[in-house]
Amino acid sequence: MSSSDNLPVPHFIRNIIEADLASGKHKSIVTRFPPEPNGYLHIGHAKSICLNFGLALDYRGSCNLRFDDTNPEKESEEYARSIQDDVRWLGFQWDGKVRWASDYFGALYDYAVELIRQGKAYVDDLSPEEMREYRGTLTAPGRDSPYRDRPVAANLDLFARMKASEFPDGSKVLRAKIDMASPNINLRDPVIYRIKRAHHIRTGDKWCIYPMYDYTHCISDALEGVTHSLCTLEFEDHRPLYDWVLNQLPVPCHPQQIEFSRLELQYTLTSKRKLNQLVAEKLVSGWDDPRMPTLTGMRRRGYTPESIREFARRIGVSKSDNVVGMSVLEGCIREDMEACVPRVMAVIKPLKVVITNFVEGKTQSREAGFHPDRPEFGSRLVPFSGEIWIEADDFSETPPSGWQRLVPGGEARLRYGYVVRCDEVVKDAAGKVVELRCSIDPDTLGQKPQGRKVKGVIHWLSVEHALAAEFRLYDRLFTVAKPDGDKAHDFREFINPESLTVVQGWVETAVNDAAPETRYQFERLGYFCADRHDHQPGGKLVFNRTVTLKDSWAKEQG
Ligand code: ATP
Ligand code: MG
Repeated sequence: MSSSDNLPVPHFIRNIIEADLASGKHKSIVTRFPPEPNGYLHIGHAKSICLNFGLALDYRGSCNLRFDDTNPEKESEEYARSIQDDVRWLGFQWDGKVRWASDYFGALYDYAVELIRQGKAYVDDLSPEEMREYRGTLTAPGRDSPYRDRPVAANLDLFARMKASEFPDGSKVLRAKIDMASPNINLRDPVIYRIKRAHHIRTGDKWCIYPMYDYTHCISDALEGVTHSLCTLEFEDHRPLYDWVLNQLPVPCHPQQIEFSRLELQYTLTSKRKLNQLVAEKLVSGWDDPRMPTLTGMRRRGYTPESIREFARRIGVSKSDNVVGMSVLEGCIREDMEACVPRVMAVIKPLKVVITNFVEGKTQSREAGFHPDRPEFGSRLVPFSGEIWIEADDFSETPPSGWQRLVPGGEARLRYGYVVRCDEVVKDAAGKVVELRCSIDPDTLGQKPQGRKVKGVIHWLSVEHALAAEFRLYDRLFTVAKPDGDKAHDFREFINPESLTVVQGWVETAVNDAAPETRYQFERLGYFCADRHDHQPGGKLVFNRTVTLKDSWAKEQG
């Protein structure tokens, strides 16, 4: 599966772009992906990345990566690096060098001076509480600040002195002079600069005033020649401000802001702030914990870039709610893995089986292909011996109806091997089954058994040949579909205590030299990926279960 096999799904943003190209409004398009380097990227960002970079590819335009670094206290180089790694891993490359909003701090300052000169911005001394009070509410208009009519010269002087570090943090702000009675609160003289003595990851201590996001974003877009500035719906009410700022200033162009709905994935979170909390409070092992919906976590879990791009294609782009079930995401990785990863056997909950009629030199082993439809993957010998591991769950003394696996006195086929019959069940003092004693039907290697049907096929491993391995099995991180949707409960109350199970089991020798991030289907158990960090080829083998073979979500979600 690759996204090029799957045609782009039409959507309203494509329609706008196609109309703009057809009318000659634009000769080519420029988009941008503008993350704030205050956390790792998550699956919601993947939607935005695939949209922005994907459109640039499809229409032969370009897409910039621009860090929105206007909040120095929360931002870090580590986050900025991880974001670049994740975008590249997803398969995209930005145009030219990485851009930073801070590249434009000089220009943004000059434009602010220009607004003041035009009488369209003023320095305000109201305290934050007073400002809130003056702002009004959704139903009541705001009131003008007593500082609103400061003369231009006084504003120019005060703004220069704000920059020159003459005033304490928070004591003054620069506000755009728009309309305190506007029904849109974003237009009630929004703050465009604040004083904040914070060390910035790029500009160090050069600035003690920082521009606000809304003011910065539109100007950065214009300076980069962005044609279509795509953002999520919560910015719809900010669009009049985006346009107002650009309309006042001699910027090189006026990009069109277009909003689409955010992705929300059930049973998880798409908020950097909350994901950061999980990491900081050690509720997960880190940003790349395979249970996390971060791109780095999903990568470690075993998701491929192709599967995530396909997911983004399937969920589409619109203005209506985009709440998506986990089965959509898991369907994408299953389909991707089905055709392209080798299949071998592993046993994750081992139960020993002694083959009572095994005869050295006479009882045979079989050759098995790594994939039923991909002969080019080659094959390996699946060695048989007098003791084998089977999955404890493939044996039952009290089977439910329809059970086709082993029962006392019953038969099942060993995958790539013989039909075995369970002759005896060995238990410990506590009554726990610790071993089965079975016999093979020697005429059933690659042959149907005579005179009876054996339906069940189980996986197994030869004890003497199997390699020890650790398996990390994951379940959803939260027990409810919308962990942050309940005002009365903190999302952390819904963490699934069984979201991680670590088991020690066995695997075929064929995987011994697998490099980290190698993917396999372990037959009947699911798709697994050798852990990026803890797996050592030829040493400690550690496999993360990416996904089970069957969709276990459909029935739960109703
Ligand atoms: P978060 O709340 O997780 O921090 P954000 O929107 O503040 O998200 P940014 O770093 O500002 O994070 O996001 C960069 C881009 O990714 C923005 O254009 C934003 O609209 C987009 N984006 C973020 N979350 C989602 C989402 N869930 N679905 C689609 N796009 C998203
Ligand atoms: Mg943001």
